[in-house]
Amino acid sequence: MSAKKKTLSGYKACRRCKLVVPEDAKQCPNCGSEEFAPRWRGMIAVIDPAKSCIAKRLGIEKSGIYALEIVEE
Ligand SMILES: [Zn+2]
Repeated sequence: MSAKKKTLSGYKACRRCKLVVPEDAKQCPNCGSEEFAPRWRGMIAVIDPAKSCIAKRLGIEKSGIYALEIVEE
């Protein structure tokens, strides 16, 4: 379990579910939201949400790369 405290350029985070998607994505493939935050901090790779206590705490139900924190402008 590792979380990098670095913002990844070229990626943005979904405001609703915090899924990390490429900058050119129009819609979140996870929750369907079209609102993204260009700045975010930390990331977590969820492989098996059902077995991850961190995923449960963050309310993550699907596997993927998620931002730990959205950075508001
Ligand atoms: Zn989303």
